[in-house]
Amino acid sequence: MSTFFKNIVTYVKNLINGDEYISDRTKLGYTIVTLSFIHVLIAIFFFSCENYFLGFYNVGSFALYQGLKELIKKKRYIITIVLTCVEIIIFVLVTSFCIGTIMRFNLYCLALVPGLFYTASTIKDFKGSTLFPFLFSAASMMTFVTSLIFELVHEPLYVVEPSALTHIVEIINVIIVYIMMIIFLLLFTWEMKNNSAALEKRNQQLQQFANRDPLTKLPNRRSMMQVLNVSMHELQRDNAPFSVILGDIDDFKKINDNYGHDAGDKVLVMVANTITSQLRDCDSVCRWGGEEILIIVKGDLEAAKNIAERIRLNISSSKVEHGGQSMRVTMTFGVAQAKAGDRIEHLIQQADNRLYYGKGHGKNQVVDQNV
Ligand code: GH3
Ligand code: MG
Ligand code: MG
Repeated sequence: MSTFFKNIVTYVKNLINGDEYISDRTKLGYTIVTLSFIHVLIAIFFFSCENYFLGFYNVGSFALYQGLKELIKKKRYIITIVLTCVEIIIFVLVTSFCIGTIMRFNLYCLALVPGLFYTASTIKDFKGSTLFPFLFSAASMMTFVTSLIFELVHEPLYVVEPSALTHIVEIINVIIVYIMMIIFLLLFTWEMKNNSAALEKRNQQLQQFANRDPLTKLPNRRSMMQVLNVSMHELQRDNAPFSVILGDIDDFKKINDNYGHDAGDKVLVMVANTITSQLRDCDSVCRWGGEEILIIVKGDLEAAKNIAERIRLNISSSKVEHGGQSMRVTMTFGVAQAKAGDRIEHLIQQADNRLYYGKGHGKNQVVDQNV
């Protein structure tokens, strides 16, 4: 039993956190079970008052809802909701015609309005249609008004004298109708809130997806351009120095040719992880191109050169295991410090020229001067 309650508590917590959604089937299932239960109570009440017609009428409504449960199992949600609305409207008309509005059974068609808008806007089959809840809400209003007109123009079939019991039933009906309206509106508000939270989460995921390289999980060139622009702005405004390091894996093509593309991918991931582990929080790194990495160091040329040298040593001493074989790679780096008023393209070009020089002069080195 305690597991049962724990499960319920977990479910409710998940619902509140937006990790769990009430399925269309659950929504309709609970609504139908609740309505069946209400009809059983009403049937018992009428039988006890010896009003067999309304007693059996409610037994019939109960039977209808058992049939609707089968429709829900077959995912026929629209027809289930239409039949439920029709049932409630006919129930209100029949009850008002037979006994008048003395015990307020006509209030049940009021609960239909929030129920309709809730189901039509959250059950996927309706595709957010507002025409459907609007039409049935209008029908519900006409039903309510008709029940009041009946009162004016005709004597009820079974005259019920006001008594303590009729007052109690009236109070119970008012409470049930209010509870139903409040539950539908609460669920409606809560689902809308959850939907916008889910949308926000999805947007953040998409944003991350658009800004990251899927293989190495490093930011991509596009998002790094933003960091470069901000750094350049800070250099001009606050005189905060920054430098770039452009790194390229040496003879990477050979890794692919000798060990296969997957092995090349593994090397790229190792390189990305090694570089990330060597950087401070204030520095940034991205996958600039195929096997080129760009690092932004918050500091002058000397600081950037030291970081590049540390990364170079770390990478050359790292091994990557693939298919029972062990691979090693080296990297060449070109380093350049930004000058106030410099164009970003010019800064990168300068680092690239130095990298190019290193490639032509033995690779596996850091070049920080124009040679
Ligand atoms: P160098 O030392 O002059 O840089 O020689 P290199 O072989 O590294 O340079 P080259 O430009 O000739 O080759 C780069 C190779 O990197 C070619 C390309 O197929 C490979 N490459 C680029 N992106 C990826 C990737 O995502 N995965 C793998 N496995 N290989 C990649
Ligand atoms: Mg290369
Ligand atoms: Mg290259």
